[in-house]
Amino acid sequence: MRQVIFLGAPGSGKGTQSKLLVADCGFNHLSTGDLLRAEVAKESELGLKVKNIMENGELVSDDIVLELLKINCDLVGSQYLFDGFPRNISQAQALDEQVLNDTDSMAVYLDLDLNVLLERLVNRRTCGDCGAIYNLVYSAPKTAGTCDKCGGSNLVHRDDDKEEAVSKRLEVFKTTIAPVLDYYEQKGNLRRVDAEQSMDQVLTQIKKTLGC
Ligand code: AMP
Repeated sequence: MRQVIFLGAPGSGKGTQSKLLVADCGFNHLSTGDLLRAEVAKESELGLKVKNIMENGELVSDDIVLELLKINCDLVGSQYLFDGFPRNISQAQALDEQVLNDTDSMAVYLDLDLNVLLERLVNRRTCGDCGAIYNLVYSAPKTAGTCDKCGGSNLVHRDDDKEEAVSKRLEVFKTTIAPVLDYYEQKGNLRRVDAEQSMDQVLTQIKKTLGC
C-alpha cells in the first residue's frame, strides 16, 4: 500500500485536494497543521506552547510535530496522505526512518508560481463547522458568510492567513522546500503536478499520478 506525501506551498491546494482524494480514493488525511490547530483550540499544554509560533507563520519544532504525527498515524492497513509534513529536510528523513520505514511511498509536489499565493491565502476562509474551504475571490460561498456545504455561519479567517503571517509562511517555505524536493528527487519518488490549473484539473492529474 503506497503512502503519499503531499508537498506544496501554503495555499497551493493541499488541503482542498486532500479532502477530494479522501472522498474519491479512501485515503486517511493526516495534516500536521490541522492536528496543531486542534491542540490550540482545546488549549492543551502543547496548544498553548505552539499558538504564538503558528500565528507568526513560523515553524513549530521538529520534535513536537513528529511526536504528534506519530501518535496520530498507524500505517497498518491504511493508506495515508501526509499533508504539511515534511517541511524541511530533517523532517523528511525522520518520516522515512521513524514512520514509513520501508513502506512504499510517493511524494507529490503541487507546483505553482509562489507570487499568486499571497492573494489566495489572505482571501481564504474555512468553515469552522465542517472544514470546507473557500476563497472570497475565486470560490466564494453562494451566500456571503454561510457555508454552502453545511449551512453553518462560522467561516473563519485563520490568524496565520492574515497578511503578515502569510508573508512569513511563504518566506519560510521558499527557504526550506528546495532540499526537500532534492531529497525525494534523488530517491526517485518525486512527482510534480501543475497546480495552476483548475481544482478539477489538478485533482484529475493527481489521481492519474497516483493511479487511483
Ligand atoms: P498548515 O496548515 O500546514 O499551513 O500549517 C499551519 C502552521 O502549523 C504552520 O505555519 C506551522 O506553524 C505549523 N506546522 C504545520 N505543520 C508543520 C510541520 N511539519 N513542521 C513545523 N510546523 C508545522
